[in-house]
Amino acid sequence: MTYKISKSDQEWREQLSSQEYAVLRQAGTERAWTGELLDEKRAGVYRCRACSAELFRSDTKFDSHCGWPSFYSPLAGDTVELIEDRSLGMARTEVRCAACGSHLGHVFDDAPQTPTGDRFCMNSVSLTFEES
Ligand SMILES: [Zn+2]
Repeated sequence: MTYKISKSDQEWREQLSSQEYAVLRQAGTERAWTGELLDEKRAGVYRCRACSAELFRSDTKFDSHCGWPSFYSPLAGDTVELIEDRSLGMARTEVRCAACGSHLGHVFDDAPQTPTGDRFCMNSVSLTFEES
């Protein structure tokens, strides 16, 4: 996969904080209930913290009680990339930013209360919020 935005490992390390780097570039996960965007309820847009691509809108954010910001749909189908993830002995679907390949979180089909049934479970540290 070739991304529109491509940087060297060194460039990402210089741009991102160590926590951002660990999640976005090494597929880490922030601790549940600690993310700054968990309780964000204002109207606006969520962007990739690594490359600023628009990824989600506030109208698809819902309270999933899982400890991470959750959305039932990305802004558009091609704003995120879905990748099969069999790490940690689990079959999961990883969600990456389609513009720069940075790790955002995982998607699960366990949200029957939403229009899509999907729960895009995102790390706050992977996103920035812009009120609109
Ligand atoms: Zn990105």
